[in-house]
Amino acid sequence: MTNMIGCDVLVIGAGSGGLAAAKAAREHGAGSVVVLERNAYAGGILRQCIHDGFGLIRYGKILTGPEYAYKAYHEALRSGAEVLLGRHVANITPDRAVTLYSKGGIETYKAGAIVLATGCRERTRGAISIPGSRPAGIYTAGVAQRLINCQNILIGKRVVILGSGDIGMIMARRLKLEGISVVAVIEAMARPSGLARNVSQCLYDYGIPLYVNTTITEIIGKKRVEAVRIASVDERMKPIQGTESVLECDTLVLSVGLIPENEVALTCGVRVNDDNSVVTDDFLQTSVRGVFSCGNSRHIMDLADYVSEQGETAGGNAAKYILGQPLDAWDESRTSCMKKGFPDDNTVTCTICPSGCQIGWNRANDTFTGNRCPRGKLFARQEMTDPVRTVTTTVRIHNSNIETLVPVRSIKPVPKDEVINVVRSLNGICLDEMEDGDRIEVPLKCGGIAEMIADKEIKEC
Ligand SMILES: Cc1cc2nc3c(=O)[nH]c(=O)nc-3n(C[C@H](O)[C@H](O)[C@H](O)COP(=O)(O)OP(=O)(O)OC[C@H]3O[C@@H](n4cnc5c(N)ncnc54)[C@H](O)[C@@H]3O)c2cc1C
Ligand code: SF4
Repeated sequence: MTNMIGCDVLVIGAGSGGLAAAKAAREHGAGSVVVLERNAYAGGILRQCIHDGFGLIRYGKILTGPEYAYKAYHEALRSGAEVLLGRHVANITPDRAVTLYSKGGIETYKAGAIVLATGCRERTRGAISIPGSRPAGIYTAGVAQRLINCQNILIGKRVVILGSGDIGMIMARRLKLEGISVVAVIEAMARPSGLARNVSQCLYDYGIPLYVNTTITEIIGKKRVEAVRIASVDERMKPIQGTESVLECDTLVLSVGLIPENEVALTCGVRVNDDNSVVTDDFLQTSVRGVFSCGNSRHIMDLADYVSEQGETAGGNAAKYILGQPLDAWDESRTSCMKKGFPDDNTVTCTICPSGCQIGWNRANDTFTGNRCPRGKLFARQEMTDPVRTVTTTVRIHNSNIETLVPVRSIKPVPKDEVINVVRSLNGICLDEMEDGDRIEVPLKCGGIAEMIADKEIKEC
């Protein structure tokens, strides 16, 4: 029998939801707050999202996923929460005893309140039942993202992506930047399911074809994927006979949805919906009293910033629960406010803030439409005359026979047409070391240089 360790608030999962919950629980008066995380690092899924676009709401600036994770992690530590890594939670009882496995063996905690922040998992091919053989070369988008961004493994040479959610589109761009041919993104619905800004900046920027109202009817190949058969679908999502064609490829990436991860929540009897999302009241409390839920494990969310906000409400309420104080309601409208689907015709999608305004510019009389604030005018003018992008990628470091990847970003945006050149130049180099804040200069084809910086915030996380 192991000893029970007591704590006021126990948070399960150290992604953006769990880290924000821990900080808020401390700030609202919980004495001891412990976060249990099964990975050897904090930050959750953010650690593999090396592209930028995080943090606009929460930190007022555009960060990469690892930068956002670093900030959230250190905010939790500064608040006095304890973040324990390498702890896999296996069971929770309705009276909030939590059993975990770690290298040190089995431990049991007894918590005054619990916040579930266990994230989500990806739907796989099995979940969508595509007919055909079972060759190598089929990945989910998140696995492909981790292999490329964290392990420097190229997953194939010619890739088809099924699903136009944000992760699929972001991966389409990443693959293209890494020199992989992206044959097409296939979407069964009439419009892309991800954000309009990702359609613009991930697909349109790189000329990646998007086939809507289309599905994959067969995967062809024995040992390795050789091709996929596609067909148009009718309004009931059924393939239309006579519309089939074959796309040659060696890899299929599935980006077909996320499922809330709630295996451990179920052990204490928390009620879940058919889609595995958690049933909560307005205060993010589950059907088990004193157990709260936030982030993707409660309900799949678009932006890490909103996950953090929800984590704060859940963590704050967990503290209030044990202190016997009234709980705060979560504002469900905070879940997403950004435009999804195709960008409007003849507009640009402003990426300065999450509103994502669709801005049109009438050059003849220099007037703008669709921008909710003056900053949009400057953005639209620049985008339509001289578009620029911040480059985010990784650099290989070879140290003591161990090769690691360090995420880097350009200090200033570079001309859009130079992004591929900068990323591929960096792919070709391997450094012995890279100190915090070290810079690498990459010559631009148009003259000048792109200055890339490795942020200390990335390595320490
Ligand atoms: C592949 C992928 C890519 C994404 N890309 C973007 C993007 O580009 N931009 C964006 O804004 N959002 C993106 N998202 C959405 C992202 O999920 C949210 O933005 C947010 O970061 C999720 O935070 P979370 O805390 O809910 O979950 P996560 O970040 O997934 O954190 C959950 C944590 O719980 C831990 N955990 C789970 N079960 C246990 C257990 N039993 N014991 C201990 N620990 C456990 C996990 O190891 C993980 O660290 C992406 C999501 C996925 C899946
Ligand atoms: S125009 Fe203003 S409100 Fe609209 S997305 Fe740009 S910065 Fe945000």
